[in-house]
Amino acid sequence: MRVSNMLANTLREVPAEAEIVSHKLLLRAGFIKKVASGVYSYLPMGWRVMQKIMDIIRDEMNKAGGLELGLPSIHPAELWLETGRWNVYGDELFRLKDRHQRDFCLGPTHEEVLTDIVRKEVSSYKQLPLLLYQIQNKYRDERRPRFGLMRGREFIMKDLYSFDKDVEGMRVSYKKMYDAYVNIFRRCGLEFRAVEADSGAIGGKTSHEFMVLAQNGEAEIVYCPNCEYAANVEKAEAHPEVLPGEELKAIEKVHTPGAKTMDKLAEHLDVPKSKTIKTMLYKADEELVCVLVRGDRSVNEIKVKNLLDCVNLEIASEAVIQEEIGIPMGYVGPVDMPQKVKIIADAEINYLSNIVVGANEKDYHLINVNPGRDFRIDIEADVRIVEEGEKCPCSTGSLKKARGIEVGQVFQLGTKYSEALKAVYADEKGNNNYIVMGCYGIGVGRTMAAAIEQNHDQDGIIWPMTIAPFHAAVIPVSSRDEQQVQVAEGIYQDLKNSGVEVIMDDRDERAGVKFKDADLIGYPLQIIIGKKTITEGTVDLVIRKNKEAQQSVRVENVVEAINNLIKADIRSL
Ligand code: ATP
Ligand code: MG
Repeated sequence: MRVSNMLANTLREVPAEAEIVSHKLLLRAGFIKKVASGVYSYLPMGWRVMQKIMDIIRDEMNKAGGLELGLPSIHPAELWLETGRWNVYGDELFRLKDRHQRDFCLGPTHEEVLTDIVRKEVSSYKQLPLLLYQIQNKYRDERRPRFGLMRGREFIMKDLYSFDKDVEGMRVSYKKMYDAYVNIFRRCGLEFRAVEADSGAIGGKTSHEFMVLAQNGEAEIVYCPNCEYAANVEKAEAHPEVLPGEELKAIEKVHTPGAKTMDKLAEHLDVPKSKTIKTMLYKADEELVCVLVRGDRSVNEIKVKNLLDCVNLEIASEAVIQEEIGIPMGYVGPVDMPQKVKIIADAEINYLSNIVVGANEKDYHLINVNPGRDFRIDIEADVRIVEEGEKCPCSTGSLKKARGIEVGQVFQLGTKYSEALKAVYADEKGNNNYIVMGCYGIGVGRTMAAAIEQNHDQDGIIWPMTIAPFHAAVIPVSSRDEQQVQVAEGIYQDLKNSGVEVIMDDRDERAGVKFKDADLIGYPLQIIIGKKTITEGTVDLVIRKNKEAQQSVRVENVVEAINNLIKADIRSL
């Protein structure tokens, strides 16, 4: 490939719309082009990287026994009504009507469509297990499309679904996929961690997310430096801090004007926040519920949602609280909470004594309040967010927090979709059983963006060798110097013949422009042909990730040197 034949316009300016490094660099290097909010075209350079990532994914899926197929993007509403997701998927589902006014949606995920195929094609245990996958466009009308390919509304995903006879089989398939994911992200040159995750709207119980560690990550994870434990903050189990009991004191009402926040209250009464209770009122679908956590903790809404098995969970508005129970916001407390409001207490609440709570009256709090004696608890559960520094369940380390980009997720679904769609198989005895499923997704564009978040410097992208658009660029310093061009052409042809993916910068541009573009686009290796090449017979070989370590290599040794560097780089992953 020659740069003069490439469609790749680089930009010097940072596009105003881009907030994070990967988005800026993908635009500046001419890899993608915006079409609409959350909708992008992949230009040839970007598409090469996408293809490389897809090749690695495909290779690992096939090695794990996956069968590739192609599923449609247009799904009839009937299938989604059968699983109930037509009504619960909400605004994220792109819905459309055909000319006969029939309802359809653009597939955000493919459990429905594929399970429909399997229920029609599979009847016997002899046909299982099956691992079916595709690499295809997905559509999600995200509330906030942003960060370029990170959170798009149309994006490319590899999704595989496993179909097994029983739970044991599903676990085997899950392990195969988990291991394949580890191989994929390692081969893409990424630093990542698999973390325990909540399974959210997809369903099922066991799930892991594959997180690329990056400061710009939207997700927060906790991990233990001493053991394998790592979880998404949404999922991470919290273990109650056990405090020694105190002699119970008499409850008292105190005047706390303006102490509407935890900090103000703790300061006003001169008590640590851990001796207060945060009382949060939520609307869980139609029901008003009260959630209690220690004043220095935060409510984990995902845990509350899972506990109550509700579709919507929102903080109750001032108006709703006033109307339903007549309590002023900021002074809500659990003492004498009306029976109709369920009280959910975090597991730590029962270890507290003589604490401060809202008095359900403007400008007043109660002190020396004690759980059990002064207020009831309807449900006790872990409903809080884990904090950095807490003890790990392994009990040797203290937990740390980090940010990550979720590039893939694997789920054990069980029979959620096979029951809804009646996908059954006949076992050895002729009895019908539900097929046990798993599903496994990887965002291809998000993986490309995550690779840039982890691999860049002030000059541009530094592609890992395995997913670089080209392994090497040949750059003659002066395209007008016939001797230089002749040597460059020779090296370019020899590299191509030896199997190297090489691009030749044959443009009549200043050397500085060519070097800047090569750095921005991020070819792992640059071969620079200049005056010295003609006088001394050597070229400069620049390794992008470590530009200082420039080597001088004799022209006749270039092909071997480049091949060795590529091999060593790929082997190290
Ligand atoms: P998120 O929590 O980030 O919205 P998700 O958990 O809904 O993602 P999954 O349904 O698990 O996503 O999809 C599998 C993979 O698809 C994700 O791990 C991610 O890499 C990718 N992905 C999901 N949503 C998007 C999106 N809007 N844009 C780009 N990639 C996405
Ligand atoms: Mg996910």
